[in-house]
Parts: sequence; structure tokens; C-alpha cells
Amino acid sequence: MTVCRCCSGSDLKLAFRSKVLDKYAVDYVVCRQCCLLQAVNPHWLVEAYDESINVSDTGIMSRNLGFRDFTALTLWGMQGLNRMKSSRYMDFGGGYGIFVRLMRDVGLDFYWSDEYSRNLLARGFEANHEHYDAVVAFEVFEHLVHPLESFEEIFSLSPTLIFSTELYPTQPPDPKQWWYYGFSHGQHITFFNRRTLDYVAYVLGLNLLTDGHGLHVLSRDTVSGKILFKAKFLRRFGAQKLLYKALVSKTMSDNRLLLNRKKF
Ligand SMILES: [Zn+2]
Repeated sequence: MTVCRCCSGSDLKLAFRSKVLDKYAVDYVVCRQCCLLQAVNPHWLVEAYDESINVSDTGIMSRNLGFRDFTALTLWGMQGLNRMKSSRYMDFGGGYGIFVRLMRDVGLDFYWSDEYSRNLLARGFEANHEHYDAVVAFEVFEHLVHPLESFEEIFSLSPTLIFSTELYPTQPPDPKQWWYYGFSHGQHITFFNRRTLDYVAYVLGLNLLTDGHGLHVLSRDTVSGKILFKAKFLRRFGAQKLLYKALVSKTMSDNRLLLNRKKF
């Protein structure tokens, strides 16, 4: 690999070498310009995505429930209740559609999008609109070969992205110490640190908000610095239950919509 897959810079430094999928010896390099830590030449992805959700992922449902509450509370803080009710949202890299179904069940107008997975649970709600008030992308960016292209695609559709990806500290962690590398399933190939997010925000002209760990917001709009902290705080006290009472679930109305579509 000669250039960084994020900024196209050519000043890359070998961070470490590790085995992926128990058989491929892979170099991981850091870009000195944008700090993206990346697996060189990830030729094993087809094999790694034999099933799009990795088989050892037992936490998938509880994480989706956590992301549901966090997203709803963050949108509440950013937009207020009335705007939430009339907004349209997209889940980028939505996998089997679990998150979209959960968000529609609490009453938010979410749509599914994923180039690499089948939509099982949010069928009928595929994203085909030209504009979304916000996009979410949970556990997506560490999977992407060309992350900047995906950021550009998202911001051609929406002014705001709420997303997760675990940040690595200033230096790449020891490959034996950091679970997030995911060498055994081979699906994580791209790792950001704070400076990488700063770089993305700078080149795309966006405001960045991050909790410094795994949750981030990029937006064309100015976002209050306390939004993420407030959402986490409110969730601890169950405030999402009050919010869900103030929204109207789409479970039954979606059911009617899909049955009617079937008839015609
Ligand atoms: Zn770079």
C-alpha cells in the first residue's frame, strides 16, 4: 500500500504485524497526516463477510437497544420533540435492519441502507430519499475500506451524522491488548483516533463532537458541546421512557402500510 485510504497521504509507518482469520499475516500502518490506523490490503473481506454479522457477536441485541436510547436522547437534545416527530432519518450500514425497526417502534421515521447486508427486519423501509435530517452509523466505520468516501456520501444526503467507532489513543494499542482489532473475524480494518476525526471534520467543513471514546457527532450545524454527555446522563435515569411516551410508535401504522402495499 502506498497511500493512506483516508487522506491519500503517502507518509505511512508500520505499527505492527498480526495474523488475521488465523492465517493471513497482515501489516497495520498509521498515516502520519491523518493518523488513520489501517490494515494493509484487506483481501480477506469476502471471506470475513461470509455472514455479514460475525458469528461470535452475542452482544448485538443489547447494543442495538443501547444505541436506540442514546440516539433518541441525542436527537431530542439536538432537535427538540416537535422536530423529531417530523424528521426523516437514515441508518447507514444498517445490517439486518434491527436498529431501523427499533427506532420505528418508538416512533421515529428511520430508513435502512446497507450495501453489504440483507435487510431482514426493516423491509419496506429502504432509504431512497434525497434528504435526511440526520444519519446514524453504528459500528460501521471500522469496517470501511475508504472511510472518507462514505463520509462524503452521507453528507451529500444529510447535515448531521451520529456514529460510533472506538477511538484508539495517541499511539496504536498493543495488538495483544486491544479487543477492537478483531483479528479473529477480520472485519475491522480501519481505526480512528481523535486526530483522524479532526482531520475529517476539517476537510469536510464540519463541527465535531466526541465523547473521546466511541460516540461521535459530525454536523454542518453547531452542536452544543454537552449533547452527548446529557444523552448518556439522561439514559442512566431512564428519561428515554418519558420520551417514548411522547412519541407515537409506528409498529401498527407500519403494519397497515405494508399490508396495503401488498394489496396494490
Ligand atoms: Zn491519512
